[in-house]
Amino acid sequence: MKLNSDEDENSEGVDGTVTGAPLSSISGSRFPRVSTSDLRILFWDIDGTLIRSVRTDAFKDYTIPVLEAVFGTSGRLAEMRVSGMTDLQIVVEALRHEGFTHVHIRDRVEELRTRYMEEMHRVTGNGEQFFYLLPGVEEALEAVHAHPRYQSALVTGNIEPAAYLKMELVGLSRFFTLPGSFGDESHDRRDLPALAADRIRRYLGIDLKPSQFIVIGDTPNDIDCAHHFGARAVAVGTGRLYSRDDLLKHNPDALLPDLSDPDQLLTILDTL
Ligand SMILES: [Mg+2]
Repeated sequence: MKLNSDEDENSEGVDGTVTGAPLSSISGSRFPRVSTSDLRILFWDIDGTLIRSVRTDAFKDYTIPVLEAVFGTSGRLAEMRVSGMTDLQIVVEALRHEGFTHVHIRDRVEELRTRYMEEMHRVTGNGEQFFYLLPGVEEALEAVHAHPRYQSALVTGNIEPAAYLKMELVGLSRFFTLPGSFGDESHDRRDLPALAADRIRRYLGIDLKPSQFIVIGDTPNDIDCAHHFGARAVAVGTGRLYSRDDLLKHNPDALLPDLSDPDQLLTILDTL
């Protein structure tokens, strides 16, 4: 793929749109122009980064009935630790020893998606709080939203409608108007950043280098998927499973204990 250099900002973008225009018009920002090469796209993980379920492993409340309905078994899902895995990967791993292959599961993806959302609406729609925002998340998203250098997208292991339902339930939908990539698109999280980046390049009509994308997440898989694509990785220590040392072993470009200090986040992002 052709990448624009800083001096080459007025060439045609991937869909023929002229690049190099002030991005303030694209982002709707009240700030003055930002050049294409200054733009950074933030790829936000959801679970353990933006939100948590009130109860540990609460996702099994809706995932186990789905697998039992579609495949007649939920395999070893009840005992699995799934942090950082895509939803498709969770299904593959849960059913691996039951004789179901990737192909069997791919063939049933539409049915899985439909039943998954039925179950998810059922368990989250009874008036009880199911998810909560992690500290400072809304303020952090507001801070980057107001800054002309950043735009935000979801890159998450959740299937797409589940990701947007979660954002709706916690009141964050307004921050995620760019296309993203989701957990029913691959069993390997490392595939997700490139999918989202291509969609965003087309959506904005500009070319962006992999290094202009920054993954923000709570697991080694988030860090690894960023680096696999050539993006930067900011690890946050708010996940349930991984310690600071676990995350540091995967060489994130930065590590934050949490997102409670928007100024600290902006200071770190400014270096990336
Ligand atoms: Mg996560």
